[in-house]
Amino acid sequence: MRVPLALEERMLAPVSRLVPAVRRADWVREWQAEFWQLRHAAERDPGRSRKGAGRNGLCEALSLSYGLIADAVWLRMDWLQLSARGSAAGCLVVLAAYCLLCAGVELVVAGSWRAFERVIWGHLSGGFVFVAVPGLIAALATYPLRPLRCDERDAKLFSARVRWNLFLAVKMALTLALGFLFPMVACLPLRAAIGARADWVELLLWLGMVSLGLRWALLNQEQRCQRCLRMMKQPTRLGLASRNFLEWSGTELACADGHGLLQVAEMTGSWCWYDLWVKLDGSYREIFTA
Ligand SMILES: [Zn+2]
Repeated sequence: MRVPLALEERMLAPVSRLVPAVRRADWVREWQAEFWQLRHAAERDPGRSRKGAGRNGLCEALSLSYGLIADAVWLRMDWLQLSARGSAAGCLVVLAAYCLLCAGVELVVAGSWRAFERVIWGHLSGGFVFVAVPGLIAALATYPLRPLRCDERDAKLFSARVRWNLFLAVKMALTLALGFLFPMVACLPLRAAIGARADWVELLLWLGMVSLGLRWALLNQEQRCQRCLRMMKQPTRLGLASRNFLEWSGTELACADGHGLLQVAEMTGSWCWYDLWVKLDGSYREIFTA
């Protein structure tokens, strides 16, 4: 006797759209095997047949449907989490979230939008601008950016060069915003205790946050793939330090999507003052993604 598992089997195709494409076929096969097992177990033991089970049969169908959806949603969330890790969007979202959190605390303490606007403008023009502008000029002038070799225009809206520069600009802007807002929030208890003298502590914190933040933003950019802007992975040691005279030694990092390799020399000199980007063609993609 064939026991129908209509509800969950009908749901399999639409729910499978939730599963990431790379895992969808395996996921569907696994659930089809599960349904086959259930159907044949019921055939071997007619006492467990759904037709005879009535309300229990409906509960079992609903339970299976819930399991089906929960499994697909978990796989999608896990995939989103893995995709966001090390990605450019993930980096910007984290920075923006911290900025919003600090701004929210400042807004609650200020009590109204008008007071909040007054406090922000007062601190911005009263001290932060005199720290941020020299800090930005010094960071860009003293750090030699790696020349960008990748300038491909794929299906995306902007070329790799535009995406690279846009991401760097937004990341530095958010880093500056966080460097401005976090010291303000950190100095709130101090301001309540000693009043305007807390301005000096705030100034020192701005100096530290802006210097370290901009340095981090530039170093972080150098560790990213020039095409997809993800953080490079799989560090591999190359060369021997004792043979530096005619060769180089250092670390090689790879893009997880196989777009290229980043070779970072252990000792930089006039002959090699920046990291080398080695572009890979599409045939390497399967090796890295596997
Ligand atoms: Zn890449």
